[in-house]
Amino acid sequence: MSKADRDIRTLRGIGDSRAKMFGKLGIATLRDLIRFFPRDYQDRTAFRSISQLEDGVVCCVRARTAGPVKTVRIRAGLTISKVPVCDDTGLLTVTFFNRKYTAESIKSGREYVFYGKVTAQYRGFEMQNPDFETAGSSGGSTGAIVPVYRMTAGLGREKLAQAVKMALSECLDEIEEPIPRAVLEEYGLMGAREAYVQIHFPTSWSALRSARERMIFEELFIFSLGLVFMKQRRTVRDGPVISGSCLDEYMDALPFRLTDDQAACVGQALADMGSGRLMSRLIQGDVGSGKTAVAAACAFCVIRSGYQSAMMVPTEILARQHYEKLGPMFEGLGIRTCLLTGSMSASEKGRVRGLMASGEAKLIIGTHALISAQSEYHRLGLVITDEQHRFGVSQRAQLSAKGDAAHVLVMSATPIPRTLALILYGDLDVSVIESLPPGRQPVKTYCVDESYRPRIYEFVRRQVRTGRQVFVVCPAVEDSELMNSVEEYGARLKDEILSNLRVELIHGKMKAQQKESVMADFAAGRSDVLVATTVIEVGMDVPNASVMVVENAERFGLSQLHQLRGRVGRGEAESFCILVCESRNGDAKARMKIMCSTSNGFEIAQEDLRIRGPGDFFGSRQHGLPEFRIADMEYDVRILNNAQKAAAACAERLLSAANGDDPLFKAVSSFFRQEGPVN
Ligand code: ADP
Ligand code: MG
Repeated sequence: MSKADRDIRTLRGIGDSRAKMFGKLGIATLRDLIRFFPRDYQDRTAFRSISQLEDGVVCCVRARTAGPVKTVRIRAGLTISKVPVCDDTGLLTVTFFNRKYTAESIKSGREYVFYGKVTAQYRGFEMQNPDFETAGSSGGSTGAIVPVYRMTAGLGREKLAQAVKMALSECLDEIEEPIPRAVLEEYGLMGAREAYVQIHFPTSWSALRSARERMIFEELFIFSLGLVFMKQRRTVRDGPVISGSCLDEYMDALPFRLTDDQAACVGQALADMGSGRLMSRLIQGDVGSGKTAVAAACAFCVIRSGYQSAMMVPTEILARQHYEKLGPMFEGLGIRTCLLTGSMSASEKGRVRGLMASGEAKLIIGTHALISAQSEYHRLGLVITDEQHRFGVSQRAQLSAKGDAAHVLVMSATPIPRTLALILYGDLDVSVIESLPPGRQPVKTYCVDESYRPRIYEFVRRQVRTGRQVFVVCPAVEDSELMNSVEEYGARLKDEILSNLRVELIHGKMKAQQKESVMADFAAGRSDVLVATTVIEVGMDVPNASVMVVENAERFGLSQLHQLRGRVGRGEAESFCILVCESRNGDAKARMKIMCSTSNGFEIAQEDLRIRGPGDFFGSRQHGLPEFRIADMEYDVRILNNAQKAAAACAERLLSAANGDDPLFKAVSSFFRQEGPVN
């Protein structure tokens, strides 16, 4: 066992109780500790003389005490201690709240270095609750770049830093370099040992930058290699053999003909599943392109070949909707279909799980509940995820691990830049649906300001009179200034403005069951107008809806608007998207203009990326990326590119000489162990 794998309790000063606190931060071994990277740094290299202080500056001040510590008790639970200190240029008040003993440890006539934020007061400057140490003392933080760690109760900055320092000195000489020498050289990367030291206790800002860059590179490099491994392992694993001979039976039951693109996707998936190897395929197609029908065709063939199919979707609403659409069709073909979601009652869940485990249920549609430990399957042959970027590599893997060896089909609508696609879907083969089903007309899109409201309402009334339905979407904010908080605005539409129409409301705070019944009513045409937050963004399908009004459209990202607009124009009727936007802001206008000028999802995604920068795009929480310890997608696109290049170059050697002692091989395997079961 390497020293790095030792328990942190082997460190001086860490016993059971402290180990428990470290445990809360996910730290059990020395390796965990040295891989617990700072979340930020304090710059204690910058000194200021008192005469140079400015309001709001965070800095170090070297000063002598210039008077006694005075503590006043303001009220129960609040004491304020003040100490005057000075240097040759002026006077500064150091103030402590409820830290009487700390304050009183400051001795008169001594010189200290104080570090903290300066605020301008009525007379002179004040520094509140600073860190301080005796000036000239060695081994302190003064003059250093000081790491700031994520903390937990009982473990302060210093304790953490101390522990990290001890761990480094214990095991640094045993840390292996997972990145091959040639790669280090080619990309000018800092070596592992130096990087571990510098990332915790940097000697300069430039050394810190190099250390971070190296750690980010390592993480992305190993991740990229892991994807290559997954792909490799899959191609040598046996999968259930699925026959496509029953496809016609499915086609006959379908109320429409598959488009050429859809049929091609089905063909590719069936070829994979008929090969005896495991399939891992991504179906990429814009909103409304008909991915569900493709997935259902695959599920059908799998079931006819004697296996179960499971379909996992990110929201309850979507699960129910898929269930209501596919259920009757599959039941009509004699296939038992069931729904499993988190909000179902325990007894209901139990009943459904029974049907799943016995193999009676053949098509199972649900949310995350499908991957919970209690969900068992019987000859699971295919897992489908309809993910809209919400499931990561690991959840996908968890579901497929439910089967002995199950084929994997992923459906995704959001076109994404190539780099990101590689990370998200690098382990998958890709099929694309380019064209939309026939008879679709592009959704007419308008961007208007508030002055158009009366006209919008009139338009909505007219559309409803012709038998159509209308979505009104508001941003999901609790902001009271914003008139269009759904509840309030919805109530006004319902009771005043559109009082002669059947208006329903749906928003995130409602109970799942309530949401479902509102949705079901709308889908069945029992209501005319649905006022909603973005809960409807994900995949809802109501072909009779022909108008999408988006309030405060400037608050939505382009890709989100595209998703929303995709909720209409699904039937044959002419459809409209009205973006109500008050903002004079240039960015907002540019985005609205793009929405009005194109309906191509890929173009929109590209523009989104261009306008918002990769930060927001990656930061949008919908990417489903595994949680990286350090890699920050916002800044690291360049490093990601390099890491992928390097991984591609190394993959072959690593695969052919897979050797348990190779540090790179070990690193790759352990990364994916963290990611959850991968088969
Ligand atoms: P998405 O790709 O966004 O998931 P859906 O699978 O929800 O799209 O399909 C959108 C709509 O198009 C649905 O109402 C579906 O019934 C319909 N549809 C799908 N394929 C076809 C087709 N080949 N011909 C006509 N309508 C289709
Ligand atoms: Mg869909």
